[in-house]
Amino acid sequence: MTVYAQVALLRPSRHLDRLYTYKLPSSDIKKVAIGAKVKFNFNNRLEEGFIFSLGQEKDFSGEIKPILEVLPEELWLTPELVEMVKWISEYYLCSITEALTLISFPEKVYQDVEVFCTVVDETKLKEKIKKSKRLQNDETVISLLKDKRGLVRTTSTIKKLVKQGILQIREKPLPNLPPIELTESQKQVYQQIKRDMPKNFVGLLHGITGSGKTEIYLKLAGDFLNQGKQVLFLLPEIGITTQMVARVKKYFPENTLVYHSRLNAREKFTVWRELKKGSPVLVLGTRSAAFLPFQNLGLIILDEEHELSYKQEETPKYHVREVVYWRAKRLGIPLLLGTATPSMETYAAVISGLIKYYFLGKRYQNRPYPQVIIVDMFKEAKEGNTGIISSVLQQKISERLQKGEQVFLFLNRRGFAPMIMCRKCGYFYRCPDCDVSMTYHKEEKNFQCHYCGKKIAFTCKCPACQEISLDLYGYGTQRVEEELKKLFPAKIFRVDYDTMRSKNSYDKILEAIKNREADIIIGTQMLAKGFDFPDLTLVGVLNADQSLNLPDFRAGERSFNLLTQVAGRAGRGLVPGEVIIQTFNPENYIIQAVQRGNFQQYALKELSLRKQTGYPPFSKIFRLIIAGEDEQQVIEGANNLVNLLKNASKCNPEVEIIGPAAAPFYKLKRNFRYHILLKTNKSSFAREVLKAGLQEFKKSSLNHKLTLVLDLSPQIFL
Ligand code: ADP
Ligand code: ZN
Repeated sequence: MTVYAQVALLRPSRHLDRLYTYKLPSSDIKKVAIGAKVKFNFNNRLEEGFIFSLGQEKDFSGEIKPILEVLPEELWLTPELVEMVKWISEYYLCSITEALTLISFPEKVYQDVEVFCTVVDETKLKEKIKKSKRLQNDETVISLLKDKRGLVRTTSTIKKLVKQGILQIREKPLPNLPPIELTESQKQVYQQIKRDMPKNFVGLLHGITGSGKTEIYLKLAGDFLNQGKQVLFLLPEIGITTQMVARVKKYFPENTLVYHSRLNAREKFTVWRELKKGSPVLVLGTRSAAFLPFQNLGLIILDEEHELSYKQEETPKYHVREVVYWRAKRLGIPLLLGTATPSMETYAAVISGLIKYYFLGKRYQNRPYPQVIIVDMFKEAKEGNTGIISSVLQQKISERLQKGEQVFLFLNRRGFAPMIMCRKCGYFYRCPDCDVSMTYHKEEKNFQCHYCGKKIAFTCKCPACQEISLDLYGYGTQRVEEELKKLFPAKIFRVDYDTMRSKNSYDKILEAIKNREADIIIGTQMLAKGFDFPDLTLVGVLNADQSLNLPDFRAGERSFNLLTQVAGRAGRGLVPGEVIIQTFNPENYIIQAVQRGNFQQYALKELSLRKQTGYPPFSKIFRLIIAGEDEQQVIEGANNLVNLLKNASKCNPEVEIIGPAAAPFYKLKRNFRYHILLKTNKSSFAREVLKAGLQEFKKSSLNHKLTLVLDLSPQIFL
């Protein structure tokens, strides 16, 4: 009997998107399974890959080569991950090899991993420590002596103590149910969810900022861990702070694993190994954690489900919400989404009854929603104040400072001034490589392109007419900082990409703010979400219109989410909060809804607008971007592609093919960009059309000169 294996290659190759058939030596047949990692010869090279299917039929008539080596089981994918990779490649129309890049499978087996360890012979351990200076200085050993158990790395010292029978390495124990005291309204929601969620369930926990969603997640997670199940708790990039990790670890000290892309290979291996063993653990992670080899997954929680960082913007451009839907459905387990500002996709599914809805409308300890005041900046200008800080805001800031409270001013624009123009000749500073205006950075003394990062040294001479007459327009955080320093003798912190380059400084800055090292904090969206400063009582949104007017059907949704998050930072402590929103559109429905803290009012209006225009969630949109350095070629390629797509769809009206059109950022990094949109209610048919059109396009000579990017879940249309 011969057994054949179909393997997926790890090495990316542009033309060979398929599985390859190999023969298993009879000695190996019993040693492999779907997901096994193996070595084989491919094009005269030793390559690695994963087995995607096994069988006695071969689908290939030529010479079939043997598998040369089966790698250790710790390195294998689980069969579920194999299925997931196949699904990703079909759903997002990418190759298997591209889909595999989403899984950060280990390259090798690490020996010194973190294990759970208990002290079995305390007397002997004490003796040993007494005799050895080295053990006295070993923090791990000392803390083991104190707690009698804990997570340790298997260093040679630990291994030796295990050998001597003093310590024992054990499987992870079940956690104790955490001592979480839910409030009355939290308890009600928790019990409803428990009642509804045995299996195959998607729920939305809609809780206003500060209502205590996390407490409910953790209570539910505890129930699953306690039954020996695994839990996946996903947070957006910005949510994984030291504060959050500490909060979860407090309840599940031995059963929490943190996972994000910045872990090193050994740390990632530890998580990988623990999950494959089936240990009862909660993984607190960012979107990459959705691709881990859970063996015994019981519950998935997606916090801040509306967040943009759940969408990966590199190929394959997946949305983690779609991935966890698939996974929960495939495994028949519950998925709980949570947010203060549900995405329109999720909310529409709630309305149509596909997702169960739970609402937490009160803040913890009934802290009131902040009072929101809208300031009309046209009126302000008419009254002679053309600065960026309105007189109302200025007065409110002084009041709060006098009371010793903190103020947060939000402006989503870094640098000093976002536009630079010559007063004499009208020359406008643009990035030479992108169709984007340069931003003046006073502190760094240069002009910067915020898209490609290009920097040009500051000069006050106009490059076109040589006059010294450059003028600055608009405000960035640096300019606001400068103005504030003139107005208030206060401690001022600026928190933006430029002040927070290093990895640790985010946590440090949060700590410093909490410790009252700042009275006024100026921040971009880096600081808009998730954190909790009890002394912060006044929030000022300096320019609410900035995100409102982007040419994108989701601009309104993103503005509502952002403004609600920003407003939610005020008054989380004992003193009620206040929010000032400065805008040129005081009547706008989004600004109005933020003022009332009324999600539903906003959402119903937003959904009716989307319905009128047929945009998501009332359709699906797929996007193709064609880019290249030669604009003529790009246009030609884009037109070709549209024709091929139209042929493939046979002009079926169920797929509307829109474009090509110049993308909103029509030149980036020297590349001209055009895009094509497919709008449809039959996404499986639209996928077929795309597949067929692209296949034809790949045969054309233009294909090799252009870059083609596929986005099947586009969130931003740059
Ligand atoms: P959300 O995630 O809904 O914005 P959090 O879960 O962060 O809200 O809760 C807001 C604050 O209230 C946190 O500091 C949290 O510790 C506190 N809190 C909420 N519920 C409880 C509770 N049941 N017991 C103790 N503290 C709570
Ligand atoms: Zn640029």
